[in-house]
Order: sequence, then C-alpha cells, then structure tokens
Amino acid sequence: MALRKTTTRAAVLASRYQTRGRKTGATSDAQNGPLAAENLTKGCNEVPSRKRSSVKIEEDEACGSPKTLKSDDSPSTDISGCKQEPLDLKEEPITSKDDCASWSPANWMRIVENIRKMRKDVPAPVDTMGCDMCHDKEESPAIQRYQILVSLMLSSQTKDQVTFAAMGRLRGHGLTPENMIATDESVLQELIKPVGFYKRKAIYIKKASQILLDSFGGDIPESVEELCKLPGVGPKMAHICMNSAWNVVSGIGVDTHVHRISQRLGWLPPDVIRKRKKLENLTPEDTRIALESWLPRDLWSEVNHLLVGFGQTICKPVGPMCSECLNCSICPASKIKW
Ligand code: SF4
Repeated sequence: MALRKTTTRAAVLASRYQTRGRKTGATSDAQNGPLAAENLTKGCNEVPSRKRSSVKIEEDEACGSPKTLKSDDSPSTDISGCKQEPLDLKEEPITSKDDCASWSPANWMRIVENIRKMRKDVPAPVDTMGCDMCHDKEESPAIQRYQILVSLMLSSQTKDQVTFAAMGRLRGHGLTPENMIATDESVLQELIKPVGFYKRKAIYIKKASQILLDSFGGDIPESVEELCKLPGVGPKMAHICMNSAWNVVSGIGVDTHVHRISQRLGWLPPDVIRKRKKLENLTPEDTRIALESWLPRDLWSEVNHLLVGFGQTICKPVGPMCSECLNCSICPASKIKW
C-alpha cells in the first residue's frame, strides 16, 4: 500500500516536470535516459526522517520578506530581520587541494542535470534581478564593469530584489566612480538603503571608487587578486565579477546558496569536513576550493547561477521543498525532517 502511494506520487511529480519541460523546450526524462526517470520512481517518502542536526540552516538574504527597517546597519541583524554573520568578506580557507585529491561525490552529474531541469521550469529572482542584470547596457564597457562590481558589493547579505531596486536608484543618480566620490556619504546611504550593511557599503563604494580612479583609470581590475584588495570585495564577489564583467572564469563564486546546497548534497570531501571538525565550520572559501577540485572547469561558470536560483526557489535555506525536488531520492539532506 505504502509502495503504491509512493509510486503514484513520484509519477505525478515526473509528469509535472515532463509537462513543464515540453512547454519550455526541456528534454524529457525518456530523452535523458533512465537515470532521471529512476530518480522519480524512488519516492522520497521511502527515506526515513531524522532530526535536523548535521546541516546548518542559514538565515540570510534568502529568508523571509523584510520587516521594520532599522536605523543603522548593525551586524547582528539586518533590515529583513534575518540573523547575519559579520560582513567578513575575506575568510581564509584551511582547505587545500590535497584534501580533495581524487575524490568526487556520487551522482553529481545526475544531480546537476536534475537541477537544470528544475531551474528551467521555475523562474528565480537571480534570473532577472541578479548582479549581472543590474547594469546599464548603454554605458561604456568600463562603466558597465564598474556597475557590475557595485551591484556585487551591494548584493552581499541582501536579497536580489533589494539589490536590483537599489541599483536602479543609483543608476538614476548617476553610477560612475566620479559621481560616487562626489556624492555625500549620507545621500549614498539613503540611495542604497535597505541593502544589508548599507552604511558600511556606502563607505566601501566611495573608497573603492577613489582607488579605481587613482589606480585603474576608472575601470575595475582584471584579476581576482586586485579585486580582493578593494574594500568590501571578497573572493566570492571577485570570481563572479571576473566572469560577469570580464568574461573570464577564474573560479567558482560561492555565495550562501552555493555553500549551503553543496553541504546538503554531500559535495564536500570527507577530509575537508574532518579538518574543520564539523560541516558547519566550513567557510565559503573551503567550499570553493573543494568544489573546484572535482567539478569540471567548464561547469564553474554555470554552477553559481544554477545553485543560486535553485536555492531561491526550491532548496531554500529554511524549509527546502524536498518533496518537489527531483533529487529527493539521492540527496543526503532529503532524509532530514525539516
Ligand atoms: S535538500 Fe531537499 S530540496 Fe535541497 S537538493 Fe536535497 S532533496 Fe532537493
């Protein structure tokens, strides 16, 4: 009886994605071979639930809608009422490539293909309001690159919708390095509010703009190393910026979604976790080095966008929709009772 119920439910789920796939031009499970279809015939109800313990739940920009605005940008909570970690953008990894030697997670290709299918069907904020969607495409290439960098600086611990709106106000005001330097700090704060840590980010934008004018002729640096020297810019931003602004794949941009979902999917080598003692002690930089050790380079550019949208819509920080997820039968975290 239970088996019949599970099979029926899986068939409904498979049918839903196949129907959506036809609408969007996605390939069906039959076209993709037996693996994806097999996923769906193994219902996630077959997996016993257990206590939520091994996966850290992050409450960040992806959490609920904003509450009352605060008058400052205190690091303990942001304006959306979400718990925040300090704005530490330069976290040092203790992971080395040797910790990940000749290791790769089970089923990762199948998981990626399933996420691609789900992403085709479910639009995510990052698709229309991500940091590569906020710049003025009529501007010169250097100004476009500058605007991409600013949108990334704003995006840290901030929802895409909030960043996109702030970028619209900045562009209306005139988003060039010269104008940011000329703009009073308090005016800049009001323009970017309510992005997380808006007071500190206003300072960073003004300082970075001055450095860009003094040392780079108003353009942005063309290396991760130089980008990371700018105030308010860390490795995640730098790698995404290299990709979006310079079309150079320098590394994987590991934001909170990529970090969390990699943990849930079991994409981090056991030696790396042992070194940090437990999973929740890993930093985004640990995750980046670990992912880069096994994920083929031609997927590095795609994986950030893929997982960010997946994290915004299905594998959410709180209350992931495991019963709707095509990876339900093969994801270690689907065993957790959320
Ligand atoms: S945690 Fe749930 S939603 Fe996220 S990948 Fe695993 S099964 Fe899918």
